[in-house]
Formats: sequence, structure tokens, C-alpha cells
Amino acid sequence: MASIFSKIVAGEIPSYKIAESDKYYAFLDINPLAAGHTLVIPKQEVDYFYDLDDDMLSGMIIFAKEIAQKMKAVTGCKKVATVVLGLEVAHAHIHLIPMNNESDVDFRREKLKLTPEEFQEIASKLKL
Ligand code: AMP
Repeated sequence: MASIFSKIVAGEIPSYKIAESDKYYAFLDINPLAAGHTLVIPKQEVDYFYDLDDDMLSGMIIFAKEIAQKMKAVTGCKKVATVVLGLEVAHAHIHLIPMNNESDVDFRREKLKLTPEEFQEIASKLKL
């Protein structure tokens, strides 16, 4: 069965899209740690990040770079955290999170509750 992220890529589940290429897709995390929290995924459905082949792996970081640069400019954060973590969705993903303190990237913290309009507004600012 296709992962929830493959369904997002296929447009079967809606997402707040930030960027797309032939190989990768980026969209807002629906339970964000900070406004702008974005997931970058390969369209190819591979569970574990380090099972991606070298070209896919390096290309994913380069794809994420432009998103992170825009995220930093738009949010004014000190740095963009780049985190590979989690066991919930079996489809490799990188979390990009605007960061001003290390505690901004504590996944045990309560997530932000944003309205669809707020998600839409953030997505329109971050969109490449
Ligand atoms: P994990 O595998 O633990 O990194 O968790 C998957 C991440 O995907 C979590 O941060 C979820 O909030 C996020 N997530 C799950 N479903 C969706 C969705 N439909 N749209 C956006 N983000 C999602």
C-alpha cells in the first residue's frame, strides 16, 4: 500500500506544497514545531533515509537547500534545522525547521495549531 506521503505526491491527499521537482516534493508539516516547518521527501517510496542511493540522497539535500535558504530569509530565523528523525511514516523525509534556539527542535514539545488560512499564508510565503 502506498504511504501517506506517496498519496500526497499523487495529489490523493491535500498538502500545502512548497516545492516540487521530478524526484522530490516539499510540503508543510501538518503538526509544526514552528511556523514554516516543512517536510522534504523523495517521490520514490523508500522507508529509510540511508537506503536511498547516493544520487537520490545528495540530490535531496541540494533540493532542500533552496527551500531552507528561502525559509531563513522569510522567517528571519537564525538557522534552519535539518532533521532526519521519526518512525511514524515509513517514507524517508527531512524536517526543515526554522530555529532560533535548540529547544525549537524538541519534538516532544507541543505542536502549533494553525488554521488552514494560516498554513496557506505560510505556504505562499515559502513557496519557491
Ligand atoms: P515521523 O515519521 O515521526 O517524522 O512523523 C511524520 C511527520 O509527518 C510528522 O511530523 C507529522 O506531523 C507529519 N505528517 C503526517 N501526516 C501528514 C500530512 N498528511 N501532511 C503533512 N504532514 C504530515
